[in-house]
Amino acid sequence: MYTCSLERMTEKIKSFSRFGDTGHGGITRYALSPEDIRARNEFIRRMKAIGAIIEIDDVANVYATLPGTDPSAKRIVMGSHVDSVKNGGNYDGILGVLAAMEVLETVVEQNIDHVHPLTAMIWTNEEGSLYPPAMMASGIVCYDFLPEDVRRNFRYDDMMASNNVLNREDTFGKALDASGFKGDRANRLSPDAYSCMFELHIEQGPILEDAGNHVGVVDCVLGMFNCRLRFYGQTVHAGTFPMPKRQDALFAASQALCSLHEKIDALGYEDLVYTTGEIACHPNVHTCVPDEVDFSIDVRHERADVLEKVLGIVADCADKTWAGCTCRVETMWNRNTVYWDKTLVRYLKEAAEETGVKHQILHSGAGHDAQFVSYMLPTAMVFVQSKDGLSHCEREYSSPQHCTSGATVLLNAVLKADAKRNM
Ligand SMILES: [Zn+2]
Repeated sequence: MYTCSLERMTEKIKSFSRFGDTGHGGITRYALSPEDIRARNEFIRRMKAIGAIIEIDDVANVYATLPGTDPSAKRIVMGSHVDSVKNGGNYDGILGVLAAMEVLETVVEQNIDHVHPLTAMIWTNEEGSLYPPAMMASGIVCYDFLPEDVRRNFRYDDMMASNNVLNREDTFGKALDASGFKGDRANRLSPDAYSCMFELHIEQGPILEDAGNHVGVVDCVLGMFNCRLRFYGQTVHAGTFPMPKRQDALFAASQALCSLHEKIDALGYEDLVYTTGEIACHPNVHTCVPDEVDFSIDVRHERADVLEKVLGIVADCADKTWAGCTCRVETMWNRNTVYWDKTLVRYLKEAAEETGVKHQILHSGAGHDAQFVSYMLPTAMVFVQSKDGLSHCEREYSSPQHCTSGATVLLNAVLKADAKRNM
């Protein structure tokens, strides 16, 4: 068993938090922004210094590879993203890159034998904060392997044309050309050159902390669906129209939302999560009764039959009128639970047991690049405890000890894959 360095990990977290520092605890580091480029350059500088070979693909994903003893063996890759949301924290994404660097640094420092080349990787534009959608580069690279209804959202030309959300003139394609990080398509992650992938990430929830565990071995990414409920009424004057005659679309929507909560909760699934996070109200004027209101509902659970039951409840909203308004339900998208490779999950679990790291098996409720990679290669994820479960905010925090424990688990799991996988 090998152990990663707390001191080195602490230094890396601190150093990389400079790139995009907001001055009040967090970072804003949009994909391909000057801050993102600085983080990439620092990654490259440090990886070159330990003898890694740097490659960049055509969508700016960066790969740093330490050769193994067998030049014909396929690579084992570890990676995550360095971009963030606006006013994000110093851990989401970047920690997976720092942990991958730490693994390679430990391998070099402790002169650890390995047969397969080991690669630390940066995925471009995971958050999609400036250029939607999220998980853009993994969507492009894994395109041929993704289910049709997923991959239609990641066509190369559409991605290049993705508009900057702050300045509608710039596109992802233009930013890519200007970044100096548009490399060779031949360098893309592929099953020809790579045998498997690990991604370390912060948990982004409170389960590990509540259980007193430092690291989570992730077994799947939860299945989910996303619906839009639209309510149609009639705009009238707020002062002149009697209440009983109104068709108030916002009142209708709020009744439907409360009814959904009641009915979904009555199913009694403790680990079911659902969220209405977006609402649009028309005309959104304080003297007008709203005529059109729509809201989102995002529902996540491991079991397809549970999701189907909830979808039935949501769809039933369209069968009746609410406060005199009609309702239409649209399913925007849904996906099944994605299970990680069982062998890699076992390596992570064994690595956590053997290194004495307090851990548990966990599901992921959020999407990650590894999820798309899992359609192409055996893939698994490891989570590090998030303080108070916070993420996508400046207060996001994971202790250096927990981060280092995560890297240690990753390192030993990678070495198990190196030793045992017949690749
Ligand atoms: Zn992330």
